[in-house]
Amino acid sequence: MIIAGNWKMYVGPDPAALAARLVGLEGVDAIVCPPFTGLAACVEAGLTTYAQNVHWAPEGPFTGEISAPMLLDLGVAGSLVGHSERRQHFGETNDGVARRAYAALESGLAVIACVGETQDERDAGDMESVLSLQVGPIRDACGAHERLVLAYEPVWAIGTGRTATPELAQRAHAFVKTLLDRPVLYGGSVKPENAAELLAQPDVDGALVGGASLEIEPFAAICTAAAPA
Ligand code: PEP
Repeated sequence: MIIAGNWKMYVGPDPAALAARLVGLEGVDAIVCPPFTGLAACVEAGLTTYAQNVHWAPEGPFTGEISAPMLLDLGVAGSLVGHSERRQHFGETNDGVARRAYAALESGLAVIACVGETQDERDAGDMESVLSLQVGPIRDACGAHERLVLAYEPVWAIGTGRTATPELAQRAHAFVKTLLDRPVLYGGSVKPENAAELLAQPDVDGALVGGASLEIEPFAAICTAAAPA
Protein backbone atom coordinates (compact mmCIF):
# COMPACT_ATOMS: atom_id res chain seq x y z
CA MET A 1 0.00 0.00 0.00
CA ILE A 2 1.16 3.48 -0.91
CA ILE A 3 -0.36 6.62 0.61
CA ALA A 4 0.91 9.80 -1.03
CA GLY A 5 0.01 13.27 0.22
CA ASN A 6 -0.14 15.99 -2.41
CA TRP A 7 0.25 19.31 -0.60
CA LYS A 8 -0.38 21.25 -3.83
CA MET A 9 0.52 24.95 -3.41
CA TYR A 10 0.11 24.89 0.38
CA VAL A 11 2.83 24.94 3.03
CA GLY A 12 1.50 21.74 4.60
CA PRO A 13 2.22 20.26 8.02
CA ASP A 14 5.49 20.50 9.91
CA PRO A 15 7.69 17.79 8.34
CA ALA A 16 9.42 16.75 11.60
CA ALA A 17 6.10 16.45 13.44
CA LEU A 18 4.61 14.43 10.59
CA ALA A 19 7.64 12.13 10.48
CA ALA A 20 7.38 11.60 14.25
CA ARG A 21 3.67 10.76 13.93
CA LEU A 22 4.33 8.17 11.21
CA VAL A 23 7.04 6.30 13.15
CA GLY A 24 6.13 2.63 13.56
CA LEU A 25 3.70 2.57 10.65
CA GLU A 26 4.26 -0.80 8.97
CA GLY A 27 3.20 -2.18 5.61
CA VAL A 28 2.50 1.28 4.16
CA ASP A 29 4.76 3.50 2.09
CA ALA A 30 3.86 7.03 3.16
CA ILE A 31 4.99 9.69 0.69
CA VAL A 32 4.73 13.47 0.84
CA CYS A 33 4.66 15.77 -2.19
CA PRO A 34 5.28 19.29 -0.87
CA PRO A 35 5.74 22.37 -3.05
CA PHE A 36 9.33 22.92 -4.19
CA THR A 37 10.19 25.12 -1.20
CA GLY A 38 9.29 22.30 1.20
CA LEU A 39 11.29 19.52 -0.44
CA ALA A 40 14.54 19.93 1.50
CA ALA A 41 12.86 20.08 4.91
CA CYS A 42 10.80 16.96 4.16
CA VAL A 43 13.90 15.06 3.03
CA GLU A 44 15.74 16.24 6.15
CA ALA A 45 12.89 15.03 8.36
CA GLY A 46 13.31 11.55 6.89
CA LEU A 47 10.03 11.55 4.95
CA THR A 48 9.87 9.83 1.57
CA THR A 49 9.59 12.94 -0.54
CA TYR A 50 8.32 13.39 -4.09
CA ALA A 51 8.10 16.57 -6.16
CA GLN A 52 4.78 17.57 -7.72
CA ASN A 53 6.26 17.76 -11.21
CA VAL A 54 9.53 17.22 -13.08
CA HIS A 55 10.78 18.33 -16.49
CA TRP A 56 12.09 15.96 -19.15
CA ALA A 57 15.38 17.79 -19.76
CA PRO A 58 18.29 17.51 -17.29
CA GLU A 59 18.82 21.31 -17.52
CA GLY A 60 18.06 24.12 -19.92
CA PRO A 61 16.09 27.27 -20.69
CA PHE A 62 12.83 26.12 -19.06
CA THR A 63 11.88 28.87 -16.62
CA GLY A 64 9.79 27.66 -13.71
CA GLU A 65 10.66 23.99 -14.23
CA ILE A 66 12.87 21.58 -12.28
CA SER A 67 14.82 18.56 -13.51
CA ALA A 68 15.20 15.02 -12.23
CA PRO A 69 18.96 15.37 -11.49
CA MET A 70 18.22 18.52 -9.44
CA LEU A 71 15.60 16.65 -7.42
CA LEU A 72 17.92 13.68 -6.91
CA ASP A 73 20.62 16.04 -5.63
CA LEU A 74 18.20 17.19 -2.92
CA GLY A 75 17.47 13.59 -1.87
CA VAL A 76 14.01 13.58 -3.43
CA ALA A 77 12.84 10.05 -4.26
CA GLY A 78 10.27 10.64 -6.97
CA SER A 79 7.72 12.91 -8.58
CA LEU A 80 4.10 13.18 -9.53
CA VAL A 81 3.51 13.79 -13.22
CA GLY A 82 0.34 14.64 -15.11
CA HIS A 83 -1.75 15.79 -12.16
CA SER A 84 -5.10 17.01 -13.49
CA GLU A 85 -4.40 20.51 -12.18
CA ARG A 86 -1.28 20.58 -14.40
CA ARG A 87 -3.32 19.32 -17.36
CA GLN A 88 -6.24 21.74 -16.72
CA HIS A 89 -4.43 24.95 -15.80
CA PHE A 90 -1.02 24.61 -17.42
CA GLY A 91 -1.81 22.89 -20.70
CA GLU A 92 0.13 19.69 -20.05
CA THR A 93 -0.48 17.12 -22.76
CA ASN A 94 -0.50 13.33 -22.72
CA ASP A 95 2.76 13.27 -24.67
CA GLY A 96 4.44 15.81 -22.38
CA VAL A 97 3.39 13.82 -19.33
CA ALA A 98 4.89 10.69 -20.86
CA ARG A 99 8.15 12.53 -21.59
CA ARG A 100 8.32 13.75 -18.00
CA ALA A 101 7.67 10.26 -16.66
CA TYR A 102 10.26 8.65 -18.92
CA ALA A 103 13.01 11.16 -18.08
CA ALA A 104 12.34 10.90 -14.35
CA LEU A 105 12.46 7.09 -14.39
CA GLU A 106 15.61 7.09 -16.55
CA SER A 107 17.30 9.40 -14.04
CA GLY A 108 16.47 7.13 -11.12
CA LEU A 109 13.39 8.81 -9.64
CA ALA A 110 10.14 6.99 -8.92
CA VAL A 111 7.02 8.32 -10.64
CA ILE A 112 3.33 8.55 -9.82
CA ALA A 113 1.61 9.30 -13.13
CA CYS A 114 -1.92 10.69 -12.76
CA VAL A 115 -4.80 9.98 -15.11
CA GLY A 116 -8.55 10.47 -14.89
CA GLU A 117 -11.62 11.69 -16.75
CA THR A 118 -13.65 14.88 -16.28
CA GLN A 119 -17.34 14.88 -15.43
CA ASP A 120 -18.26 15.73 -19.05
CA GLU A 121 -16.12 12.89 -20.37
CA ARG A 122 -17.71 10.46 -17.91
CA ASP A 123 -21.23 11.68 -18.78
CA ALA A 124 -20.46 11.20 -22.48
CA GLY A 125 -19.45 7.58 -21.80
CA ASP A 126 -15.83 8.34 -22.67
CA MET A 127 -14.08 7.23 -19.49
CA GLU A 128 -12.32 4.27 -21.08
CA SER A 129 -11.24 6.12 -24.20
CA VAL A 130 -9.88 9.04 -22.15
CA LEU A 131 -7.94 6.69 -19.88
CA SER A 132 -6.58 4.87 -22.93
CA LEU A 133 -5.40 8.16 -24.44
CA GLN A 134 -3.73 9.16 -21.17
CA VAL A 135 -2.15 5.82 -20.23
CA GLY A 136 -1.11 4.83 -23.78
CA PRO A 137 1.75 7.34 -24.18
CA ILE A 138 3.02 6.58 -20.66
CA ARG A 139 3.02 2.86 -21.43
CA ASP A 140 4.70 3.41 -24.80
CA ALA A 141 7.42 5.60 -23.27
CA CYS A 142 8.06 3.77 -19.99
CA GLY A 143 6.63 0.25 -20.20
CA ALA A 144 5.78 -1.48 -16.93
CA HIS A 145 8.75 0.14 -15.19
CA GLU A 146 9.28 -1.07 -11.62
CA ARG A 147 9.42 2.49 -10.24
CA LEU A 148 6.27 3.60 -12.05
CA VAL A 149 2.92 3.79 -10.26
CA LEU A 150 -0.31 5.17 -11.73
CA ALA A 151 -2.94 7.21 -9.92
CA TYR A 152 -6.55 7.12 -11.08
CA GLU A 153 -7.98 10.49 -10.13
CA PRO A 154 -11.40 11.27 -11.62
CA VAL A 155 -11.25 15.04 -12.08
CA TRP A 156 -14.80 15.45 -10.76
CA ALA A 157 -13.70 14.00 -7.42
CA ILE A 158 -10.60 16.14 -6.84
CA GLY A 159 -11.07 18.74 -4.15
CA THR A 160 -14.84 18.55 -4.55
CA GLY A 161 -15.80 16.31 -1.64
CA ARG A 162 -17.33 13.91 -4.19
CA THR A 163 -15.63 10.53 -3.98
CA ALA A 164 -15.94 7.72 -6.49
CA THR A 165 -17.82 4.80 -5.00
CA PRO A 166 -15.55 1.87 -4.17
CA GLU A 167 -17.19 -0.13 -7.00
CA LEU A 168 -16.62 2.63 -9.52
CA ALA A 169 -13.00 3.04 -8.42
CA GLN A 170 -12.48 -0.72 -8.64
CA ARG A 171 -13.86 -0.84 -12.21
CA ALA A 172 -11.66 2.05 -13.34
CA HIS A 173 -8.55 0.60 -11.67
CA ALA A 174 -9.11 -2.81 -13.24
CA PHE A 175 -9.46 -1.11 -16.63
CA VAL A 176 -6.27 0.95 -16.14
CA LYS A 177 -4.39 -2.25 -15.30
CA THR A 178 -5.48 -3.78 -18.63
CA LEU A 179 -3.65 -0.85 -20.27
CA LEU A 180 -0.54 -0.95 -18.08
CA ASP A 181 0.06 -3.52 -15.40
CA ARG A 182 1.36 -1.38 -12.55
CA PRO A 183 -0.05 -0.50 -9.11
CA VAL A 184 -2.85 2.08 -9.25
CA LEU A 185 -3.57 4.58 -6.46
CA TYR A 186 -7.01 6.15 -6.08
CA GLY A 187 -7.26 9.93 -5.72
CA GLY A 188 -10.26 12.18 -5.25
CA SER A 189 -11.52 13.43 -1.87
CA VAL A 190 -10.04 10.53 0.11
CA LYS A 191 -10.60 11.11 3.83
CA PRO A 192 -10.25 9.05 6.99
CA GLU A 193 -13.99 8.24 6.76
CA ASN A 194 -13.90 6.70 3.28
CA ALA A 195 -10.32 5.42 3.02
CA ALA A 196 -10.78 1.90 4.38
CA GLU A 197 -13.63 1.06 2.00
CA LEU A 198 -11.77 2.37 -1.05
CA LEU A 199 -8.51 0.69 -0.07
CA ALA A 200 -10.29 -2.64 0.44
CA GLN A 201 -10.95 -2.92 -3.32
CA PRO A 202 -8.70 -5.54 -4.89
CA ASP A 203 -7.23 -3.24 -7.56
CA VAL A 204 -6.84 -0.17 -5.35
CA ASP A 205 -3.18 -0.23 -4.32
CA GLY A 206 -3.14 2.94 -2.27
CA ALA A 207 -4.28 6.54 -2.35
CA LEU A 208 -3.17 9.95 -3.57
CA VAL A 209 -4.54 12.38 -1.00
CA GLY A 210 -4.85 16.14 -1.45
CA GLY A 211 -6.84 18.14 1.10
CA ALA A 212 -6.69 15.50 3.83
CA SER A 213 -2.89 15.40 3.67
CA LEU A 214 -2.53 19.03 4.79
CA GLU A 215 -2.94 18.15 8.44
CA ILE A 216 -1.13 15.45 10.35
CA GLU A 217 -4.01 13.56 11.95
CA PRO A 218 -6.23 12.95 8.89
CA PHE A 219 -3.19 11.89 6.86
CA ALA A 220 -1.97 9.59 9.64
CA ALA A 221 -5.49 8.12 9.93
CA ILE A 222 -5.54 7.32 6.20
CA CYS A 223 -2.08 5.72 6.48
CA THR A 224 -3.32 3.65 9.43
CA ALA A 225 -6.40 2.57 7.43
CA ALA A 226 -4.02 1.32 4.74
CA ALA A 227 -1.87 -0.70 7.14
CA PRO A 228 -2.42 -4.45 7.13
CA ALA A 229 -4.51 -5.60 10.11
C1 PEP B 1 -5.11 15.48 -5.38
O1 PEP B 1 -4.69 16.63 -5.23
O2 PEP B 1 -4.47 14.67 -6.05
C2 PEP B 1 -6.37 15.10 -4.73
C3 PEP B 1 -6.83 13.90 -4.92
O3 PEP B 1 -7.00 16.09 -3.97
P1 PEP B 1 -8.21 15.85 -2.94
O4 PEP B 1 -7.86 14.67 -2.08
O5 PEP B 1 -8.29 17.13 -2.17
O6 PEP B 1 -9.44 15.58 -3.75
